[in-house]
Amino acid sequence: MSNDVADLAYLAAAVCFIAALKALSSPRRARLGNAVGAAGALIAVIVVFVAERPDNLLPILGALLVGGAAGLVSAQRVAMTAMPQMVAVFNALGGAAGAIVALVELYHNAEGASRGQLAVAGFTILIGSVAFSGSMIAFLRLQALMTGRPLIFPGMRWIFGALLAAALVAGVWIPFGASLWVAVLLTVVSLAVGVLFVLPVGGADVPIVIALLNAFSGITVAASGYVLSNSLLIVAGTLVGASGALLTQLMAKAMGRSVGNILFGAFAGGSTLGAAAVSERPVRAAGPEDVAIQLGYARRVVVAPGYGLAVAQAQHALRDLADELESRGVEVLYAIHPVAGRMPGHMNVLLAEADVPYDKLKDMEHINPEFRTTDVALVVGANDVVNPAARNAPGSPIYGMPILAADEAQSIVFLKRSMRAGFAGIENDLMHDPKTTLLFGDAKESLRKLVAAVKAL
Ligand code: NDP
Repeated sequence: MSNDVADLAYLAAAVCFIAALKALSSPRRARLGNAVGAAGALIAVIVVFVAERPDNLLPILGALLVGGAAGLVSAQRVAMTAMPQMVAVFNALGGAAGAIVALVELYHNAEGASRGQLAVAGFTILIGSVAFSGSMIAFLRLQALMTGRPLIFPGMRWIFGALLAAALVAGVWIPFGASLWVAVLLTVVSLAVGVLFVLPVGGADVPIVIALLNAFSGITVAASGYVLSNSLLIVAGTLVGASGALLTQLMAKAMGRSVGNILFGAFAGGSTLGAAAVSERPVRAAGPEDVAIQLGYARRVVVAPGYGLAVAQAQHALRDLADELESRGVEVLYAIHPVAGRMPGHMNVLLAEADVPYDKLKDMEHINPEFRTTDVALVVGANDVVNPAARNAPGSPIYGMPILAADEAQSIVFLKRSMRAGFAGIENDLMHDPKTTLLFGDAKESLRKLVAAVKAL
């Protein structure tokens, strides 16, 4: 294969990646986007084999087989609620791969490399190692293998600063003829920087830091593309870097926080996680029959789904209830908060699984003015995203986060198992509002009972 043909094939793969990202931004075309992206990756792999004719074919094919099988099995088995952990592991692998490529290049080809290439190799090692160790800490946190709370110790910020400075000095030294040992030292110091970078970030902020580390791993890949003179790696890495950075900003905005506050808030003494609160104050609980009357005779019901919907896998039961209500002439809409659940788009994915029509899914900005004219806000396994503390309790961990205005509906019904708090670990006054009714139980069970009770009306 000539170089021109290989470049054209790389261009086709790059176009696939861009088209895939575009398609992934809409639930309707997301599957197609995935397929187009996979096709781009396949083209890229084939071109590497045909155009570059790599040595050591057997170990490479063996590694592809093992990696491919591990990816396939883990993607099939992973629970939807564990997706952020999986992304963290992928980021870690991307960062590690980039750093290793740069180390190997320095080992073999440092003599003939330009100063620019050496500088980028140093940068790749730094950012790739940070992405690796930081992502592993984030993974351990989300997998509950270590505490989810921010971890800080006295003098931590100084140690972090000193290590970062040492890494920068080592990185700058590399293009000026430093020995390979400096690159190894840079790797070790950068791994420590990654750990200290993520330890102070806890609670709801961990998935945001994963999005940021995703951006880091993309930058690592782009930089290693420069080291290897591979244009496709540069394009693909830049796309991952840019989308990770945008996602970080969007998530921070949806939580009403700045990225700086999320990353360095704990250094300044703030915590991102409240105490796990269980309220003793009285609430109004009801059975499925009473709630069915409320729903069945409403004009409009707006569903506010949250993490509990995913835990209970209640999306199909929810769809059944909506069908039943619609057959009685009740309008049913879904209010989608950008950080409901545990990953961006979590509710969209769940509801799409149950074939809920996309035009019934309303973004927070569009649905919030509608709550005032809504008879029942049906909160299914959500908590923080409807908690008015975000508006009126300065000092609360979610203060400033835009929320669904469920409290403005004529009445509110919560489907949840207990009085336990949500992710942020704080009480929700809305559960004690005189307009609110609680139907306790697993969301799927409660929804099934509601379907039967509405049918019997
Ligand atoms: P929350 O975590 O606030 O609340 C979920 C509620 O679901 C709990 O109060 C729980 O109550 C209930 N629940 C759990 N299991 C079940 C079940 N089987 N049946 C019925 N109810 C159940 O979820 P939200 O979606 O409201 O908020 C998301 C939170 O996650 C926010 O704080 C957000 O900042 C954070 N977050 C979101 C990210 C994202 O990208 N989406 C990323 C990072 C953090 P009970 O135990 O009593 O049943």
